[in-house]
Amino acid sequence: ADEATLDPWGSSTIADYRKLFEQFGIEEFDEVLPEVPNPHYLMRRGVIFGHRDYRPVADAMRNDDPFAALSGFMPTGDPHIGHKLVFDEIIWHQQQGGDAYALIADLEAHSARGLSWDEIDEHATNYLLSLLALGFDPDEGTLYRQSDNREVQDLAFELGAEANFSELQAIYDFDGETDISHMQSVVTQMADILYPQLDEPKPTVIPVGPDQDPHMRLARDLAARMRYFGVTEAFASFEADGVERTLLRQAYDAREEYAEDADRPRCGEAADWLRDHQPAPADARESIVAKLDEAGKEPLRPRIRFLDRNATDAAFEALIEAIDGEKRVYDEHIDTFDLDHAEAEELARQVELDNGGYGFQPPSSIYHRFMTGLTGGKMSSSIPASHISLLDDPEDGYDKVKSATTGGRSTAEEQREKGGKADECPVYELYAYLLSGDDDEFAKEVYDECVGGERLCGGCKEQAAELMEQFLEEHQEKRAEWEDRLEELDIDLDS
Ligand code: SF4
Repeated sequence: ADEATLDPWGSSTIADYRKLFEQFGIEEFDEVLPEVPNPHYLMRRGVIFGHRDYRPVADAMRNDDPFAALSGFMPTGDPHIGHKLVFDEIIWHQQQGGDAYALIADLEAHSARGLSWDEIDEHATNYLLSLLALGFDPDEGTLYRQSDNREVQDLAFELGAEANFSELQAIYDFDGETDISHMQSVVTQMADILYPQLDEPKPTVIPVGPDQDPHMRLARDLAARMRYFGVTEAFASFEADGVERTLLRQAYDAREEYAEDADRPRCGEAADWLRDHQPAPADARESIVAKLDEAGKEPLRPRIRFLDRNATDAAFEALIEAIDGEKRVYDEHIDTFDLDHAEAEELARQVELDNGGYGFQPPSSIYHRFMTGLTGGKMSSSIPASHISLLDDPEDGYDKVKSATTGGRSTAEEQREKGGKADECPVYELYAYLLSGDDDEFAKEVYDECVGGERLCGGCKEQAAELMEQFLEEHQEKRAEWEDRLEELDIDLDS
């Protein structure tokens, strides 16, 4: 066996995703893995290979703080074993104490894929039954249909005001023929992503395939655009009595302008930057120093150490004016100038919320690898032999595994000599992604035996096929139990 391939979790194939890391700033999941308590096997095995800003979610998990996980399912066909990855990810986050959300993206299925409402109803029920059968707790979590959720619709409308056609055109390849409903389904999807934060901002993770990353970038962008107040404004408004909203707006605009400066300093350096590059009016500075003196506080520099990472001269002036007008409040809150970045962000969010804003945190995402189709190539809902549907008759599941492509050699003799190519084998993927469950040892054993030439494809597939048959039988029994209870759930399945 080739030593270079001796990696049960196939890091070689992660190289295919290298471009994502380099071009789009998706980070490698391995790097955040040690911070995740009790990581899921898909994380341990590198099936979940990348993330965007997952750290706040991991932190919340460790500190028992609120966090959420959400995923949408487009009901365009039967749920298959590729979808199971996402079901598992949502369920696992729920088991770790997160608020879990699963939604049926019916508007998207109708507008982007042209499915009829009847087809959507049938598929939606099937998705829900599998999600529940795999362990989603509907009493603790939230299930909804896009078209039924008024709050999502309202939020979509608000978000729509922050996005424009050219932007959607660039991301989704829309053209002059694209219908309006399709665009509406995009902003609805953005609203879904931010929905868990509607009552309270919190870290939220969206498990997706890497092809979904453009949605995530847009959602993160929109979350930021919905922030009316920034840290500067939070400081400037301290309870905001008597501070004109226009003044805050001014500060905000100046901040935007400053944010476009590529060389802007990071937080903590803003005060130095102001002094060196865009000095604030000396008399205003003096006035602050005088106020600090009067209040028996320390001199200026340390106090404005954290003015704002995006502060500008104009913002600074606005701040000063606000302070002039609000000396009493300022004195009361002077200690908040010692906040670190996270605390200042939190203060900003609080001011945002107090003023009727959303205070969204940019949503995080984790990325899983696509499963290879059983016939090689991509696993696709439209090619039945390429995937195993969670609704397949268990015997058909058995047969599909038995006729799957393998990474085996042309003869048994060659296989014993050189070992199989587990990294390129869809059957091995079945073991790693599903059939081994939480048992890393078992998955590793299959891998080692394969690449070491001790395992031959006939027996290996027989074992996998039996496990698959067993999995489908059990899964479908649980689906049947939920079928009887579906009516108890507070979700309207008929459009
Ligand atoms: Fe795939 Fe199993 Fe054959 Fe290895 S022995 S190539 S894992 S089917």
